[in-house]
Amino acid sequence: MATDETADIVVVGGGMVGLASAIALKDRGLDVVLCDPGEARARTSYGNAGVVSRGSILPMASPAFWGKLPAYLRNADRGLRLNYAHLPQVVAYGAHFMAAARASRWRRAAAALLPLTSAAYPAHERLAARAGTTDRLQRTGWLKAYRTEAAFASAALEREILAQHGVAFEILDTAGVRDLEPALVRPYARAMLLTETGSVREPGRLIEACETLFAGLGGRLLRGSVGRMTPEAGGWAVPHESGTVRARQVVLAAGAASGKIAGTLGYRFAVAAERGYHRHYALHPDSPPLTRPVLDTGAGSILSPMGDHRVRVLSGVELNARDAAPDYTQIEAASQEAAETLRLGGPLDNEPWLGSRPSTPDGLPVIGRAPRHEGLLFAFGHGHIGLSTGPITGEVVADLATGRTPAVPVAPFAPERLLRWPRLF
Ligand SMILES: Cc1cc2nc3c(=O)[nH]c(=O)nc-3n(C[C@H](O)[C@H](O)[C@H](O)COP(=O)(O)OP(=O)(O)OC[C@H]3O[C@@H](n4cnc5c(N)ncnc54)[C@H](O)[C@@H]3O)c2cc1C
Repeated sequence: MATDETADIVVVGGGMVGLASAIALKDRGLDVVLCDPGEARARTSYGNAGVVSRGSILPMASPAFWGKLPAYLRNADRGLRLNYAHLPQVVAYGAHFMAAARASRWRRAAAALLPLTSAAYPAHERLAARAGTTDRLQRTGWLKAYRTEAAFASAALEREILAQHGVAFEILDTAGVRDLEPALVRPYARAMLLTETGSVREPGRLIEACETLFAGLGGRLLRGSVGRMTPEAGGWAVPHESGTVRARQVVLAAGAASGKIAGTLGYRFAVAAERGYHRHYALHPDSPPLTRPVLDTGAGSILSPMGDHRVRVLSGVELNARDAAPDYTQIEAASQEAAETLRLGGPLDNEPWLGSRPSTPDGLPVIGRAPRHEGLLFAFGHGHIGLSTGPITGEVVADLATGRTPAVPVAPFAPERLLRWPRLF
């Protein structure tokens, strides 16, 4: 039976960003409804690598992109796979991406992201303490491993920018990597250990715990997808599968679905779904444990420990339609590489998991008020760092919704930038 209800604010989407926003809004004393279909594996926040790093300030659109472009176009780089049938749909994204892939823009993006990533770990600690998941959050650091000296040398600008912003890291040689992480049987020429970094074991459990926390605070969870939202006198009508919620404000935090939902209100965002896969493997019983996430830059994939001697192998980026059939090419390659990097048993899941990073071409999230609608806030586009920066984004959203100065400067994340064509060079 259809039911209509009212609230102060509706949050659309219950991933890390939406849930953190809903909790922070409850903390500000608002009556909050959160709408989400409730399928755990449909959330990108469920299946990621769990890295929470102050150093995650360098977007994919980097000056190095141009050198890699020929390999990208041939689908010969494991870090990126293109589905050519999908490319016409992301022309605006590509134009913004190319405009952002310059050293000056990269440096600006890093400066814009630093306040957000610097606040990410403390926000995770606060949230974990309340959600009862402190034991899942560990200050492990994370390791970017390079197979050759040439690969390490090619990341010099990255290190320069990190150092310029005071992001702490240590450089390790082959023996240093082996001593630090004896589970890695592949010899790496060099590695960068980002020390101001934690990781969340099984991020999906954090999401479940946040749902319980939100409900415990008196928040209302509605299961189902939101349909076409409509502005009306004094607020919004938000239809969902079993009725309509009327509220003064709405937060759109539906991850990679946000661009499409915003499109129903006339906003044509240059955003894309950067798909990614994971698969779990048991470490061999005689292997030392893997103690921190490792980015194998040569394979374009991440190995992340998930507890119980299990490892989550995660693929790079697949640029494809969000709802296209899975293409396991990248995760199969990543799994093969992982089997030469760690002593692994067989896969623990029947099929790889597939999720979509809600990505913007400049690597900055969209956080701010909608330019043409009263009472609509955008909080999406967190790309590769949404698990990390979701909790602090939630606090920022609550500040914006209640008229306070946000805890982190949000001007660089303004929606307007992705609603107009970029100036190319
Ligand atoms: C392979 C991989 C590895 C990654 N590793 C990391 C990492 O180590 N660290 C990190 O910080 N980030 C990482 N990320 C990125 C991170 O997972 C995402 O940025 C983050 O999960 C995005 O959170 P979100 O809340 O915006 O979206 P989601 O978690 O996808 O949540 C969006 C929610 O909105 C719901 N929704 C969609 N449509 C509707 C609708 N119409 N009505 C209501 N609800 C709707 C969805 O069902 C979903 O529950 C990784 C991503 C991938 C794919």
